[in-house]
Parts: sequence; structure tokens; C-alpha cells
Amino acid sequence: MTDCLFCKIVSGDVPAKVVRESARTVAFRDINPQAPTHVLVIPRDHHQNVAELAAADADLAAEVLREAHQVAVAEGVAEEGYRVVFNTGPQAGQTVFHVHAHVLGGRGLNWPPG
Ligand code: 5GP
Repeated sequence: MTDCLFCKIVSGDVPAKVVRESARTVAFRDINPQAPTHVLVIPRDHHQNVAELAAADADLAAEVLREAHQVAVAEGVAEEGYRVVFNTGPQAGQTVFHVHAHVLGGRGLNWPPG
């Protein structure tokens, strides 16, 4: 999608601090981190949200989840615990409508979230 910010990160038109890539996914640091580790994992293909991704391509949805765990391992937060969040829809706080897993860790994370 030409007007999608995260599609532009995939294509390299918008710079990002990429920490991990696979054939079908890219992981990069959030520009406004909410925890010491805050990485976004996205599929290269454009899907609006996690529900749309899971319905269209379950294998790719699973790959995003595997990559999220590999990010946590690489960041050194997998053992102590981390959180994977898919904000889905405006009321949940989704602001970029290209599905992304937030991988958050490196501090205690409150529950319930705000
Ligand atoms: P959402 O609110 O849709 O769940 O998450 C979007 C995330 O994208 C936010 O955490 C926001 O900080 C991040 N973000 C927005 N614009 C950019 C950008 O240009 N580069 C990077 N790396 N992250 C961004």
C-alpha cells in the first residue's frame, strides 16, 4: 500500500532501526519506546490487523509470533518475561493500520494495561 507507513519501512523508503528480518517479516525498534525493549514485528505483506492477517494467511501469522519470540530471545528478555500485544482497532489504541506485534520487556509490566 503506497500510503502505509509500515509498508514504507518494509520498502526502505522510511528509515527504521531493524533488529531482525525474515523472508516474510521485519522487526524494528518502536520510535517511541514504552519499555527498555519495545520492538515491532510486522509481515512484509500489508494486512490491516491481526484478525485480517490470521484469516488471510495463518502461516504468516504464526511466523510473526515466532519472530516475536526470537526478538525477545535476542533482546535477553525471554526468560524473565515479556509481552506481545496486537492493538486491534482505534478503541484499543491501534494507530498504524498495518498489523504489528509490539514486543515489550525489560521492566515489570502492569496488568490490566491502561
Ligand atoms: P499502535 O498504536 O498502532 O498499536 O502502534 C503503532 C506504533 O508505531 C506506536 O508504538 C508508535 O510509536 C510506532 N511508530 C509510529 N510511527 C513510527 C515510525 O515512523 N517509526 C517507528 N519505528 N515506529 C513508529
